[in-house]
Amino acid sequence: MENNNEDQAVDKDGAAEPSAARNDSAAGANAELDAQWHRVRSRLRAELGEATFSSWFKLLSVDNVHRGRVVLKVPTRFVRSWIEAHYLPRIRDYWQNEDPSVKRIDIELQPEWAPTEPKSETRMQTAPPSRLPPMETKSSPRPQPVAAETTGLRDDLGAPLDPRFTFDNFVVGKSNELAHAAARRLTEANEVAFNPLFLYGGVGLGKTHLMHAIAWEIRRQDPNRTVLYLSAEKFMYQFIRALRFKDTMAFKQQFREVDVLMIDDIQFIAGKDSTQEEFFHTFNALIDHNRQVIISADRSPTDLEGIEERIRSRLGWGLVADIHPTDYELRLGILQSKADALAVRAETTPIPQPVLEFLAQRIVSNIRELEGALNRVVAYASFVGRPVTLEMAQDVLRDLLRASERRVTIDEIQRRVAEYFNVKMGDMLSARRARSVARPRQIAMYLSKQLTSRSLPEIGRKFGGRDHTTVIHAVRKIEQLREQDPALDEDVDLLRRMLEN
Ligand code: ADP
Ligand code: MG
Repeated sequence: MENNNEDQAVDKDGAAEPSAARNDSAAGANAELDAQWHRVRSRLRAELGEATFSSWFKLLSVDNVHRGRVVLKVPTRFVRSWIEAHYLPRIRDYWQNEDPSVKRIDIELQPEWAPTEPKSETRMQTAPPSRLPPMETKSSPRPQPVAAETTGLRDDLGAPLDPRFTFDNFVVGKSNELAHAAARRLTEANEVAFNPLFLYGGVGLGKTHLMHAIAWEIRRQDPNRTVLYLSAEKFMYQFIRALRFKDTMAFKQQFREVDVLMIDDIQFIAGKDSTQEEFFHTFNALIDHNRQVIISADRSPTDLEGIEERIRSRLGWGLVADIHPTDYELRLGILQSKADALAVRAETTPIPQPVLEFLAQRIVSNIRELEGALNRVVAYASFVGRPVTLEMAQDVLRDLLRASERRVTIDEIQRRVAEYFNVKMGDMLSARRARSVARPRQIAMYLSKQLTSRSLPEIGRKFGGRDHTTVIHAVRKIEQLREQDPALDEDVDLLRRMLEN
């Protein structure tokens, strides 16, 4: 595997993972085990990215190794089963790199965090105390709220739930698997398994749908639990109104009374300082009382510019689950389920499979547009009174398809970036390591990851046959520099806008 030595030549800031700690076994077997674990973790972090890494591996610790069996410990069952289902072979491979005698990896629950009766009525605290407030039990049932009053209050305070946004209507694929599992888990457990749940992903990928689904499900199971869903925009509006009517006490009180608070599109409060402050107080108060908080955003907590550092960091304390862009199978699955629903409702003739496949292939931006395209075709068919055909779909969607065809290519990115930084196009692909060419190259890799749907290995190949780890390193490096170096941040922003238009 190609290493990141070209980057080490560029920056000596320790961004590349160390590989020199290999001979420190003098400190004994334990130190050696810790060192191995440290290197395995570093590789996982580099491969999976900070957000995924901290969701799953931060709480994982190494316990012992015996006869080729490594035992890792983790505080919650959910995290354990997720790691087992998704990362075990990778951990084993990495460990075998460190120590070829290792044959298997087992993950065990840390006894003090393993609830003996997971289905007990109390809300069990399952994460370490340093991350979450002390356990609170709700042993006695709370007084029944006066239904009308409570509902009136909530409806005014929150936003209505879309009846279509349920778990039943949510199609699960690779890209949203984690977010879905986490959402489901919240509705299944009587314990606060992670707090907050932070969902993020691009527009139209199902964040709002999942939040509503959680709310519906919790209400169905226990109508007495108060679930409040609202957008960050509405939160701000309510807050400003409370300020104007000098009613902030009531405002605070209402939010602190709920069992589950969901705030959608939190990126909206970026730069809105007093709203942020108020949000932070509400957030802390709820978490301190072991109430579930669910937040969504269009980017990860660390990438939320314009939101205070302490808030960003606290947002990432629970489980951070990202929703990736869709793949073909998921798009087709969603279309099939929507088409079935349409057929039942409108009693139209079924939509031919080739039409669905055509849409799944061509409308790749997001699920909202995919739905829109399907609806347009169906509406047209019913308007002209003919069954849907492939030709009709192509015809009706012509302009939409043309628009989505305008996609940035890696070649274009390389050309633009080279032009911008005044380096030769050939340097983008060359092995030259001078910072003057290596930095633009990293920026071009970063933009390729951001603006195209190419995979890391594909991007690597396009850059003179580099390894995907080099691309990962470039992406992280630029992410990090964008936070530290405003001039570079501006360059990247400008390039991105030029490429997107
Ligand atoms: P976001 O909040 O991420 O911008 P939404 O939750 O509003 O996206 O989803 C956009 C549209 O796509 C909604 O109509 C939603 O029902 C639909 N949708 C998103 N993900 C799925 C999915 N996995 N299965 C079915 N429909 C989905
Ligand atoms: Mg949304």
